This record gives sequence, C-alpha cells and structure tokens, in this order.
Amino acid sequence: MTTPTHSFIAGHDVASGDTYDNIDPATGQSLGPVSRGGADEVDQAVSSGELAQRDWVRTTPEQRSNLLTAWAALVDRDAEELARLESEDTGKPLTQARTDATVAARYLRFYAHAIDSYYGLTIPKGPDLHAYTLREPFGVVGSVIAWNYPMQLFSRSVAAAVATGNATVVKPADETPRTAVALARLALEAGIPAGIVNVVTGTGAEAGAALTAHPGVAHLSFVGSTEVGSLIAHAAADRVVPTVLELGGKSAQVVFADADLTAAAEAVVRGVLQNAGQTCSAGSRLIVHRAVQDELLDAVIQRFRAVTIGPGSEDPDLGPLVSAKQQQRVEGFMDDLAGGELLVGGSRPDGDHLASGAYFSPTLVHGVDPQGRLAQEEVFGPVIASMAFDAEDEAVALANGTDYGLLAAVWTSDLSRGHRLASALRAGQVFVNNYGAGGGVELPFGGWGKSGYGREKGYEALDAFTQTKTVVVKL
Ligand code: NAD
Repeated sequence: MTTPTHSFIAGHDVASGDTYDNIDPATGQSLGPVSRGGADEVDQAVSSGELAQRDWVRTTPEQRSNLLTAWAALVDRDAEELARLESEDTGKPLTQARTDATVAARYLRFYAHAIDSYYGLTIPKGPDLHAYTLREPFGVVGSVIAWNYPMQLFSRSVAAAVATGNATVVKPADETPRTAVALARLALEAGIPAGIVNVVTGTGAEAGAALTAHPGVAHLSFVGSTEVGSLIAHAAADRVVPTVLELGGKSAQVVFADADLTAAAEAVVRGVLQNAGQTCSAGSRLIVHRAVQDELLDAVIQRFRAVTIGPGSEDPDLGPLVSAKQQQRVEGFMDDLAGGELLVGGSRPDGDHLASGAYFSPTLVHGVDPQGRLAQEEVFGPVIASMAFDAEDEAVALANGTDYGLLAAVWTSDLSRGHRLASALRAGQVFVNNYGAGGGVELPFGGWGKSGYGREKGYEALDAFTQTKTVVVKL
C-alpha cells in the first residue's frame, strides 16, 4: 500500500474522511490515495494561520530571512526526492523536475534576501508633519495553484507571502499534491512556526472553492485557467479581497528574416516542449517572416523528429501530458487545424511502451487562420500553430491578435526593431533574441488581458502580498 498524502495543517498531517487517487500519467496507475479536504480542513488551516500569524508578524525581517534561508537549504538537501515526486505526479522528465526543485529553493532564497531591503517611503509634508508608509501583511493568504510547475508555483507565492509576514494556506492541484506537502514539512523543519505554511489537499470544486470563499482569507493568489480564475475573482469580489491571477497564454515567437535562425529554432522548440507544452508561457504561436519560413520550419521539424519520448523517470526530452484527460483535450485540437497544414506530429506517438501513458507527439501546424481555434486557444500540449508575415506591422498585429498577453519574443538582428517591438507587443514579458519560459525568479511576471493581473516574482511580489499603511504624525 503506497503512503497516503494528507493535508498539512498547523504542523500535522490531517486526514480527511474521503480520498481520491493520485494517478501516474506515465502508466495510468495510482500513486496512492490523497485526502480529499474540504470546508472543515480549510477552516482548520485558516484558524491555525490566524493564530500563528499574530506572532509571525512581530518577527524581524532578519529572523524571517534566516528561516527562509534555512528552508531553502533543506529543499536543496531533499532536491532529488522532491524531483522524483514531482516527476511521478506530473510526468515531467527528471531533469526538468530537478530544475524545478532548484528554482523552488531559489525563490525561498531570493525573498529571504529581498525582505531585508524592502522599505516604505517617507513623504515630505513640511517641518510639522512626519509622513511615512509601512508595508504590512494581509494576515492569512490563500494560494490555489496549477499542476504544471507545482514546486515553483508553491514556492513563488509562499516565499513572498511568508517573507512579508503573512501566514499561508495552499491548495495544490488535485493531480500534484505531494511536493506541496513535502515543502510545507520542510518549512516546519527549518523552524518556521507551525501554522504559517499550511496545505489543504483536495479538489478544486471542494477544497479550492472553500478556500476562496473563506472569510478569514484576506488575499488570494491563483495560478490556473482563465475560466477558474474568473470564478476566483468573483468569489474574491464578493468579500472585497484582492487577488493576483496568473492565467493562461498563447505566447508568440516572432521571427524576422534577419534573425539568427539556428538560435531561434532552438528556442522555439524548447519553448513548446518544456513540460510537454504544459507551460503557461509556452511559445505556442510561431509568427515567421515569409522569406525564412521554409528554413525555420525545416529546422523545427528536424528537431521535433529527433525528440526522445518516454516516462519522466527515464529522463527523455518529452514526457507524457499530466493526464489522459489532458491528452484527449490536446488531441481534440487536431480535429480542426484552422486551415493549416500538419507538418509533423498531430497524434499519439507509436510504440507499445507508450500506449498506456498520456503521450502526444511534438506537433507543428503551419499556415493557420489567425482567427481559428488553434491560433486563439491555449492547447497546453507540445503543439505550435504557425503563420507567415510579410511586414512588421502585420507581425505585430498577429502577435497581439489573441485575448491573452503573457509572453512574446522577437528574433531580429536589428536592435532598433527589437526595442520597437518590445514596446508594441501586448504582453507581461517580452524577450528579444531569447525566450525564457517562465522568465526567472527576479523578473516580475504576470499577464495582460485574459492572462490575468497582478505580478508575482521579483520585488513586485512583495508589493502584491502587502498593503500600504500611510502614517502622518504631527510633530
Ligand atoms: P485549473 O484552473 O483547472 O486549476 C487550477 C487550480 O484551481 C487547481 O488547484 C484546481 O484544483 C483549482 N480549482 C479548480 N476549480 C476551482 C474552483 N471552482 N474553485 C477554486 N479552485 C478551483 O487549471 P489547470 O488545468 O490546473 O492549469 C492549467 C492552466 O494554468 C493553464 O491555463 C495555464 O496556462 C495556467 N497556468 C498559468 C500560469 C501563470 O503563471 N500565468 C502558470 C502555470 C499555469
């Protein structure tokens, strides 16, 4: 019998009356039962957070910094085990899961350092008044996160929230509960008081909805789909609670004729194969100048054909998608190629050893109608929708032509054009001659349009998890 995964509340495992199975996407078999938390567990977690936060808010930034640094060291110590759990739960190749463990520790360290130099302002009001601002925590904050980068998503919101003096309650995705619980345990081992980092496992409709609606939760951060993000925002608005919404994307890689095509092809492939394309910032649209389309597409096709596919534990280039449901969803996009031509992939890969897993081949469809579903909707699989352009204005219009706005990249050797497009492209992050899926611990990250609002990562997350208090003293 595999070890069950329970919620972690006030420093203890908390079992629920009911469980569900954590399914291994590489085999379709259960990795073990998971406690199906709901309103009761959320209530316990919020109460424990309220209690613990009263003392936590009185600690110095230096004390919190030291504890976060100790936590990061424990994540490094257990990185291999965390990576194994992450790879099994998500299906992602071990190398990518190892990177995720490293980045999770980086977030803890980054906010450990940042909190020491996070200041309010003094505001000149003349000799008789002393006016200044304080950045104060909300109290108990809730995070509902997706399954694609469980450790990174956990760590990026919890590190900033805890560094600024909040207590947290995290609802990990149903599919990937184990590393969230493991990270919360390590927080306790590092000396962070019980109740500051709580995890409630369970489904979105039960644990997630209960957390979103709980009157004790003073701030919500959400990473997931635009549809659920909108539900969260409505629930938060009912209680007048601020939210950070990190939602989906349909990010464009715009390649001009003067670009370094080898580097562009490399990045285009990596930008959609990482985590099997299940990355909010996947470069899932390719917008290529007509003069170089054949050369670039050939380079992408060659690389796609050479990709190794298999279970994450065997560390291939491409693992399975997170679930059979996700595989069917990706497959469904192949029914309508939006007028495009399928150049490679388009189906499940061959091979008996892959038959029971949720695999999908790297896929490139060129010449798609920019208004078609394949060009407009997030596939969340290893699928590129590609289209050609002739003029710069046309490239910008195509790149900006979806409701999303998470990332964009420009490939050109003309530096002026790079900057011009960085300004013209409607996205939360723009890369010139590189493409950073996710984009780094220290770089503010978030969406325009239906990709969400608010920012995590970098110093901006410290603002997101605090509220300003202005103090004016008559001297
Ligand atoms: P999802 O919206 O289905 O689920 C996300 C989380 O919300 C899960 O924990 C889920 O259990 C919970 N949830 C579901 N219904 C809920 C409800 N009614 N109330 C409260 N919580 C609920 O998304 P997903 O399929 O897990 O993740 C994929 C999506 O996440 C993609 O659209 C992807 O682009 C997006 N994403 C965005 C970012 C970013 O930073 N912008 C990062 C990763 C993933």
